[in-house]
Amino acid sequence: MDSKGRSRRQVRADLHRILMEDTKYDKGTVLGSMCTKPPRIAKIAHQMFVGSNLGDPGMFPGSRRLEREAVHKLSNLLHGTQGVGFIVSGGTEANLMALWAARNKSKAVNPEVIVPESAHFSFEKICDLLKLKLVRAKLDSSYKVDLKSVRSCISDQTVSIVGTAGTAELGIVDPIPNMSEIALDHEIQLHVDAAFGGLVIPFLESDMRDSLKFDFQQEGVKSITVDPHKMGMSIIPAGGILFRDLATLQHIKTETPYLTETPQYTFLGTRSAASVAATWAVFESLGREGFKKAVKQCIALTRYLTEAIKSSGLELVIKPTLNIMAFRTSNSKATAQELGRRGWFVSYVPRLDCIRIVIMPHVKKRHLKAFLRDLDKSTKQ
Ligand SMILES: *Cc1c(COP(=O)(O)O)cnc(C)c1O
Repeated sequence: MDSKGRSRRQVRADLHRILMEDTKYDKGTVLGSMCTKPPRIAKIAHQMFVGSNLGDPGMFPGSRRLEREAVHKLSNLLHGTQGVGFIVSGGTEANLMALWAARNKSKAVNPEVIVPESAHFSFEKICDLLKLKLVRAKLDSSYKVDLKSVRSCISDQTVSIVGTAGTAELGIVDPIPNMSEIALDHEIQLHVDAAFGGLVIPFLESDMRDSLKFDFQQEGVKSITVDPHKMGMSIIPAGGILFRDLATLQHIKTETPYLTETPQYTFLGTRSAASVAATWAVFESLGREGFKKAVKQCIALTRYLTEAIKSSGLELVIKPTLNIMAFRTSNSKATAQELGRRGWFVSYVPRLDCIRIVIMPHVKKRHLKAFLRDLDKSTKQ
């Protein structure tokens, strides 16, 4: 920091210039991110609540109401009955809170968590922090968790089983109804990581939706992660954690002696109401119809891209379930690098040696047409 400040105009001019260094979703070159450009109403809401602190909700009852309402909307969507949960910083914090509660609730001395091999990397961080042993269940040939493997991983120290509704790499939905039965049989919590899929699956056509049951309708599901800052189109940071009931939540209660309201449950203390307001505003403004429309467009474009890539002779890794697809070329890593040189942001997944594409609402057909032309050139190099 310099001793003398500069004019607001100069500072703004610098910021505008520096912002140009960042990638813009509108350009349509971002094909490997689970985030997207938020609608205008989200930015307006964000700016309005930028000074409000949900870490001290007694002072900000309006913000607290927005959080409760946003949580209720998410909970209703996922067949929760009690609307218990929080808008947190993201999927990582949401998964952390779920496993923190599950661990504290159990009496295990050397607690273990079973996660599918396809689970998000946040579980590695969380298990390290919470001193949980991470036990990985194998996948079947369609990249869903193998139920036999889940059963064989269970021990008297298992505090939670995790299933994913929309894996980060391939958008796969684990067989949650079967996992729920296993969890009930063994009286273990089932946590569903629907960070991505939780705001996609409820808006799919009913025939697709029916084969992807993952929410509180399954009795064994005790908590769900569902992120507004991904397919919820809200502003970063906005994650969501929902609990089936208050009982589980009591295990992560902290008394906050000098604040307006006790107790506190979230991992973060001081936390902004800005993205909570943005989340609420997007839900209010789009409604279920708006979300259905956005999801329909993403799914249609995923199909378009999948068909085009298939007919060009390249290998598909999966038939997409959600708006995520993956394919291989004769040298996927080199193709991904060449696409990168041509300005495309795609992800190369080393574990599966494939290129992964996420079709978010900012992606339009004309972007995919341009991408297919560059893909063709990149594979011929
Ligand atoms: C994105 C994602 C996470 C992590 O969420 P962050 O918001 O990045 O912390 C966890 N699980 C899944 C399935 C995800 O897609």
